[in-house]
Amino acid sequence: MTRPGLPPADDRASLFAVRGRLVLDRDLVPGAVVVRDGRIVDVLRGPARELPATVHEAEVVSAGFIDLQVNGGFGVEVGDSPQAIPHLAARLPATGVTAFLPTLVSSAPEVYPRACEAFLASRDAPGALPLGLHLEGPFISLHRLGAHRASAIRNAPPDLFDPFLDADVLRLVTLAPEMEGGLDRIHRLCAHHVVVSLGHTDASYEQLVQGIDAGATMATHIYSAMSGFHHRAPGALGAALLDDRLVVGLIADGIHSHPASIRLALRAKRPDRVALVTDAIAGAGMPPGVYSLDGQDVVVDSTAAKLRDGTLAGSVLALDQAVRNVVDWTGTGVAEACRMASEVPARVLGLPCKGRIAAGFDADLVLLDDGLHVRATFREGRLLYSRAPAAASTITGR
Ligand code: ZN
Repeated sequence: MTRPGLPPADDRASLFAVRGRLVLDRDLVPGAVVVRDGRIVDVLRGPARELPATVHEAEVVSAGFIDLQVNGGFGVEVGDSPQAIPHLAARLPATGVTAFLPTLVSSAPEVYPRACEAFLASRDAPGALPLGLHLEGPFISLHRLGAHRASAIRNAPPDLFDPFLDADVLRLVTLAPEMEGGLDRIHRLCAHHVVVSLGHTDASYEQLVQGIDAGATMATHIYSAMSGFHHRAPGALGAALLDDRLVVGLIADGIHSHPASIRLALRAKRPDRVALVTDAIAGAGMPPGVYSLDGQDVVVDSTAAKLRDGTLAGSVLALDQAVRNVVDWTGTGVAEACRMASEVPARVLGLPCKGRIAAGFDADLVLLDDGLHVRATFREGRLLYSRAPAAASTITGR
């Protein structure tokens, strides 16, 4: 349905502007973004003089959010059905997400070729852009399984990555560097320009640093499923917090990470090296109930997702909620919090034209109200989502 002042959802308005407080570098700067043919062509600071005929107003304008870890959501699980990725692409813009990595947990060998095919069939799906697959496992530690199944780790085929590399669909791999062949795996993936994230790892401090030396540039959901900090054995956590070569993924839901732990990560890494992720599973964005993760029951209530034995199994977090949580719990500024959901993940993946509001960048934009709730989301200048008309009344044309 077309709404006054907004371009139709299935069309790309050739020329328009968005006006509000813009996330520029580390600050909110009043100004306007001018979009033409899907790209940002101008960023104006201060009271804008000459703007295109169509102007959308918002309290805060950020580059679109990029989620590096989406196992599922809105009732579907990546790897479960060919329709999962298109469904996520359609629904995620309501949370400000304009690009994401569909993420597959350690799975039975026959699931991987299906996931590869499903990604290839859905990479042009309308909605948020699926940038490539994130394989979380199966080359991870049996001692740090989280909700992954031990059988999937034991049965992992050694040549598992080959079809993904041949098809060029792999963007990110979570692995444990201390596993046999772990460092060779990191070298090989890096040679294919796949980002390696260290996680589900029982590594010592020294072993984690070896993984970083081999080319890993990220740690997966810091704190969760990694060897913890002890003053005589600082573990994977100590290395992940200390080594500036690593960006850390952070699930800022108050459950995987206590608010104090979120503050600690921000103090150690600074916002430049923290990427907010959801680690969302099928029950995210859904009513409480029982959902699936790799064939296991996951019981979801309003705050958490757990296996029947109580093990945390991903989250029900949305990325816009993660931004709000960081602002509310840590005193981090709005611009920095938005950058942790946009610029930092774009930098981890080496995306040249996403993650920032700057001339020449893709017009991936999220318009937020003063409570940081999503009013509207654009990808490459195309409206993907706008809140119900009554609530979106302040988004007006001119
Ligand atoms: Zn995990």
